[in-house]
Amino acid sequence: MTGRHGGADGRGIGPRVWLLVAAAAMVILAAAAVWWFTQGGDGGEVKEPGPVAEQPDDRTDEGPPGEPGGEAAEEPGEGAGGEGEAPDGTGEPAESGEAGPYDPDADVTQEELDATYDIVIANGRVINPETGLDREGLNVGITGKTIAVVTSHPLKGERVIDADGLVVAPGFIDNLSYDPNALGVWTKIADGVTTNIAMHGGTTNPKVWLAHYEREHPPVHFGASFFVMQARNSLGIGRYSAATPAQIEKLKEMAEKALNEGALGISFSLEYAPGTDSNEVLALAKIAAEYNVPVYFHGRYSDAEEPGTEIEAVEEIIGYARATGAAVHIDHINSTGGTFDMKRALQLIEEARADGLDVTACTYAYDFWGTYLNSARFDKGWQERFRIDYGDLQIAGTSERLTAETFAKYRAEGKLAVAYAIPPESVVEAFRSPYVMIGSDAILEPGNNNHPRASGNFARAIGMYVRELEVVPLIDMIDKLSTMPAKRLEKQVPALRKKGRIARGMDADIVVFDFATIIDQATVERPDLPSKGIEYVLVEGQVVLENGVVNKKVRPGHGIRSEFVRVSEQAGTLAWDGAEYPLVAFRDERVVDLAALAKHGFGLTWDGVARLYTVTAGGSAVDGPAADSRPEAMPEKGALMLERGYRAAGPGGAETELISIGGRVFAPLNFLGDLGLRVSDEGDVITVER
Ligand SMILES: [Zn+2]
Repeated sequence: MTGRHGGADGRGIGPRVWLLVAAAAMVILAAAAVWWFTQGGDGGEVKEPGPVAEQPDDRTDEGPPGEPGGEAAEEPGEGAGGEGEAPDGTGEPAESGEAGPYDPDADVTQEELDATYDIVIANGRVINPETGLDREGLNVGITGKTIAVVTSHPLKGERVIDADGLVVAPGFIDNLSYDPNALGVWTKIADGVTTNIAMHGGTTNPKVWLAHYEREHPPVHFGASFFVMQARNSLGIGRYSAATPAQIEKLKEMAEKALNEGALGISFSLEYAPGTDSNEVLALAKIAAEYNVPVYFHGRYSDAEEPGTEIEAVEEIIGYARATGAAVHIDHINSTGGTFDMKRALQLIEEARADGLDVTACTYAYDFWGTYLNSARFDKGWQERFRIDYGDLQIAGTSERLTAETFAKYRAEGKLAVAYAIPPESVVEAFRSPYVMIGSDAILEPGNNNHPRASGNFARAIGMYVRELEVVPLIDMIDKLSTMPAKRLEKQVPALRKKGRIARGMDADIVVFDFATIIDQATVERPDLPSKGIEYVLVEGQVVLENGVVNKKVRPGHGIRSEFVRVSEQAGTLAWDGAEYPLVAFRDERVVDLAALAKHGFGLTWDGVARLYTVTAGGSAVDGPAADSRPEAMPEKGALMLERGYRAAGPGGAETELISIGGRVFAPLNFLGDLGLRVSDEGDVITVER
């Protein structure tokens, strides 16, 4: 995630040179493709959400670092009117833009410049991590719920918000939160959060949970995981007991039902339910892999003392990814996993990713954690485990530090205490990792017995860790606060593919803040204090916070759900040299088994780390997931059709996303045309010829 500010931003290398380099590269690639094609290369290679939110019985933890970005990282390449050639009357889209840095003006149309928008956010420094865009003087035109255009050219709006001197970023996505209770959602908005996802807590019954919060109309969008701890409670499984085989079957059934009803993933809290054994986790992680959703883990151990160290906890989580293929996420790695040995924890994640496993983590922006005193985390021996004493504990919402006597009293009351127990450098190291995003692990509840991260996490990440401590560039932090959480969860969640980005067609969930002043104000004593420096928050094009003040009449939040496409009737036939292959409908296109190519003179080579099939003209070998495929067989009706991030690339620059069905992979029909094949459409029968 760094590197975006490296050579490619045109510093030192002019746009013209870039075009030349790109042109030369294209010539070489084209020549190579022709060679492959003609030579026939053999291949490169429970509980109902009660009206009252269920507080998970955990919530732990928090720290500081920061970075620059200040005045604008250099403008990427061409500014307005530069080489990018914005349409100025001719109505012609600009030509350049393929090779150089991303230019938002490159494809703006005259029609877009002539339109009047509902809202224009004018003259801000727009940051869109997905494309590397970080430029001042840009205008964002919003129509209804959607971002219609981003450009340096002036726009007309029914309402114009002056963002001169302010940063305009995609609304923050808190992926490690809890139920969107009626109080806490407003300090989330004031902290720039537009989507609050309960991936630490969650629910066993998303249908009821989503319906409940849809009636409440929170200002933020919301979604939830299948919350295993709650499911265990509902089955009467004690926190120190292992689930029996029969109970595991029941948990599997509940998890699968929840996913089909919109749960975004599966969440475990191993430290809080130490009886959870690997049989239970593996059974549910297999379901997560089958449904292409991530498994979130509060790890089993959170200290460095034997027996059971935090590093073993990280290894355990990665082991589940290795055993099942499921994507796994390590919750708040600053407090559980890497507290005393962050470098080692991050190294384990990197090694796993290099093996092709999908492993991510999150941190919050504090070097003290917090959780309920009656949780298993405070079982006997906590002083040695966390290297602290009573005086390092403070009851949240007060200034009271604890003693042996008051510890016992508040433990019986189930109060939440913060623990000053995280080395500050661990948080800095976590933020520096490209695989660590943010998650607050809290939402404010009545009574203020909450860690301040509930209200200040996002503003603090920018104010302290970017501006003051200069830990990472601002664009990278925005990535962690918005784009990465969207990407972590979006594979089966179409709604999230339009969030975490500022670009044409994306949802108008936007935060506008002053980089010079943004900071948290919430403290352990007053966790309810809203962040400052955030000037505007828009959710689906509606202004929920204006000049730093929330408007409680505006409540645009929607439920966010997983969605699954399943195989239906056969959608036609592909006829190729006497063979026939069934076509399957996926959304608005038709797909065919990629392995069919291997029956007709193409080789398929799988790279499990890149998740990429390289298609080569002239072979017939297949490895990887398509190896045992029988492409002439129709996949089973009702089977899940999943976007696992698998891709195929072939001669001539052909490239496509693949659809995964069981152990098979399918490519859209137009990929065959891109490979240079003649594809004729005669309705139900598609004929292919070389
Ligand atoms: Zn936790």
